[in-house]
Amino acid sequence: MAGVKSKKIRNAARGQECQVRLPGICNGNPETTVFAHLNGSGMGTKASDLHGCFACSDCHHWLDGGYTKTHSRDERDFEHLIAMKNTQLLLLDMGLIKVA
Ligand SMILES: [Zn+2]
Repeated sequence: MAGVKSKKIRNAARGQECQVRLPGICNGNPETTVFAHLNGSGMGTKASDLHGCFACSDCHHWLDGGYTKTHSRDERDFEHLIAMKNTQLLLLDMGLIKVA
């Protein structure tokens, strides 16, 4: 199954509150928010745009590998998934995800 591609979802991140909000990491600045795809889709394979979260630049960096000193990979994945859950609710509110 092909992953969902949506420039609208990726672009929607700008100006949104960070959904990772990791204590001691998050910069809390919506101007730096990007759409952070789940990791593990493999090199050269673009992740589905359904699978990601709104993350500030510092949380994004943490999700992308900066976590190793403070958290395990599993803890990182867990934080990413929780943030994805919250982000999908926001995308639903924004009309970028629809229930048939
Ligand atoms: Zn953050």
